[in-house]
Amino acid sequence: KTSLENEDAEVWQWIEAERRRQEDHIELIASENYASPAVMRAQGSVLTNKYAEGYPGKRYYGGCEYVDEVEKIAIERAKRLFCEPAGVEMAVNVQPHSGAQANAAVYFGLLEPGDTILGLSLAEGGHLTHGMHLNISGRYYRAVPYGLGADEAIDYDALERLAREEKPKLIVAGASAYSLRIDFKRFAEIAHSVGALLMVDMAHYAGLVAAGVYPTPFGHADIVTTTTHKTLRGPRGGMIFMRPELEKKINSAVFPGTQGGPLMHVIAAKAVALGEALTPEFRNYQAAVVENARVLAETLVARGLRIVSGRTESHVMLVDLRPLGITGKAAETLLNAAHITVNKNAIPNDPEKPFVTSGIRLGTPAMTTRGFGPEEVRKTGNLIVDLLEAPEDEAVLERVRAEVAKLTAAHPVYGVPV
Ligand code: PLP
Repeated sequence: KTSLENEDAEVWQWIEAERRRQEDHIELIASENYASPAVMRAQGSVLTNKYAEGYPGKRYYGGCEYVDEVEKIAIERAKRLFCEPAGVEMAVNVQPHSGAQANAAVYFGLLEPGDTILGLSLAEGGHLTHGMHLNISGRYYRAVPYGLGADEAIDYDALERLAREEKPKLIVAGASAYSLRIDFKRFAEIAHSVGALLMVDMAHYAGLVAAGVYPTPFGHADIVTTTTHKTLRGPRGGMIFMRPELEKKINSAVFPGTQGGPLMHVIAAKAVALGEALTPEFRNYQAAVVENARVLAETLVARGLRIVSGRTESHVMLVDLRPLGITGKAAETLLNAAHITVNKNAIPNDPEKPFVTSGIRLGTPAMTTRGFGPEEVRKTGNLIVDLLEAPEDEAVLERVRAEVAKLTAAHPVYGVPV
């Protein structure tokens, strides 16, 4: 029995239920992953008790000598992982509580209300912090969206024209549902030709970038933001990399601009995750994530589905469900009943409402962490289509659920309660 079970059975029962759900469902949400026990151990440590407003060596509280060391390790590892391979000097802030906080701090630090920013349209794969009208990025700034061309790839020529017309202060590159490689060099050329800064939000691709299996924004972007919990497989959180001359403005926009005390236990967990990401095993893992995504897309296409942009070159893909006549919302519910977790997602020019959609987004980071290889991925892809082709058939649902149970039992995530 864990002590939490004894101390607070009411909360513990739901944590335990969630642990079991993670074990017995196939997780295909592209932004999720399973952090290692070491990462969770750091996050569950006594560092949660410590106030450390400020930065290493310059704190507003006493007793920060040990947490300073932890934060310095996180910064040093982040630089070693992302900056050194690209041969660039950048400053790092490991304190943002989340990806959204990281992006908000960059805008707050570098822009004035009403300044123009360009970001990939939410409807075509962008993130809500890239200018959506309800988000700070769209409420306080003049956000102009760019989008995809007829081939469902980012239309760089149109982006260039838009940048010339709109004269943005900052261009955001990055996405939440875009399967292709992004040409960060071209983004930088466009941004710098109109005097704009380039911010790359690599949240989705960070682990792939770290492993060298996706193009790096380092060496091109003036600022790189990321989450630490997606492909990077760390604790929930954010980080900001910036050109040294932007450090002062952005650091003060994180603290005291938009945050108070940093979450030192999460920073410790970020440091552990960054340490893991520096290993050869992590590189192999990320290569497997990309290969598994390719196999999943190929399997779905062979069964008559369409992948937005035609293919995936990363960990993620958007599946156009219209060939099967089922909505994203219905597919998400049906797959969940069979213990396969996905999220509905709008596809470009989606005829359905955003809460219904014609697509689902699938990603391979989590299934790859639990040891799924091409064979298990192919099986999973076929099970998905079996189910979506027969949404009313209870026998198919039962069979798929049983097959999922076999696959998940053969590849435990943690195995024992952690
Ligand atoms: N940026 C991108 C590209 C994302 O996909 C996400 C999350 O989905 C975020 C930022 C926001 O991260 P968080 O949920 O940690 O605020």
